[in-house]
Amino acid sequence: MMPSLKIDCLPMAEPLGGIEAFNVLRGHVDPADPYSEVNLCDYVGDDPLHVVQCRLQLCKQLHIDPQCLVMPRQRHTSQVRLVDARLLALSSHERASELDGVDALVTCLTGVCLGVNTADCVNIALCDPAAGVVAVAHAGWRGTVARIASRTVAAMQAVGAQPGRIVATMGACICQDCFEVGDEVVEALTGAGYDERYVAVRNTRTGKMHVDLPTANKIDLVEAGVHPRHITWNGECTRCNPNLYFSARRLGIASGRTFTGIIRRH
Ligand SMILES: [Zn+2]
Repeated sequence: MMPSLKIDCLPMAEPLGGIEAFNVLRGHVDPADPYSEVNLCDYVGDDPLHVVQCRLQLCKQLHIDPQCLVMPRQRHTSQVRLVDARLLALSSHERASELDGVDALVTCLTGVCLGVNTADCVNIALCDPAAGVVAVAHAGWRGTVARIASRTVAAMQAVGAQPGRIVATMGACICQDCFEVGDEVVEALTGAGYDERYVAVRNTRTGKMHVDLPTANKIDLVEAGVHPRHITWNGECTRCNPNLYFSARRLGIASGRTFTGIIRRH
């Protein structure tokens, strides 16, 4: 039997009645198993039965029907998709096809958990409690270049959210010290309008650039109209904390992913 999953609530700038955002922690880590203990991502080489078991356990703990757990097949795009009653009613095959190449989800539905799976990339859970709109986004450096965070805000606006009311929280992701990149990544970010002084620094010892992905995404959100005080990051680095989170930089890409979910209860 699957033990209880460890659900770590993400800090929100304000108490939000009825809306919960969280990371699922790895649980018991077996150093020989890069998918241990909990992995909900079905396209990273894990045993499909293990993934199903983890997903069912999460639904049980959230007290939701398994079809109300929605996560896309992420491909580092800037595609945002609305999760509505029509999408929920699709067969699992049709749903998988609609959510292939999607990296952010938005919904107005209650009792539906939206999620993304990441290992080092930024995960962002967003909500406008007054409008009853919640969203989640995956932003690696490519998604950050493509401005997926602000595109998610725009998609929330399309269903009634107001940027000034949106509260956003980022879960565990790679810290700047750990995120060494080639110069081309910094060039892509500056080419997309990010100010290098705020998002990158050169390590004087190694000569390598280091990017601050959470700050870059915070800038994208602020430029979309989200108040800086409404944006938080739990400050946890995936690569620095291998016993809590998956890290592709540490484990390689054939490893589990940390799930970030958001659910509106009422
Ligand atoms: Zn780190």
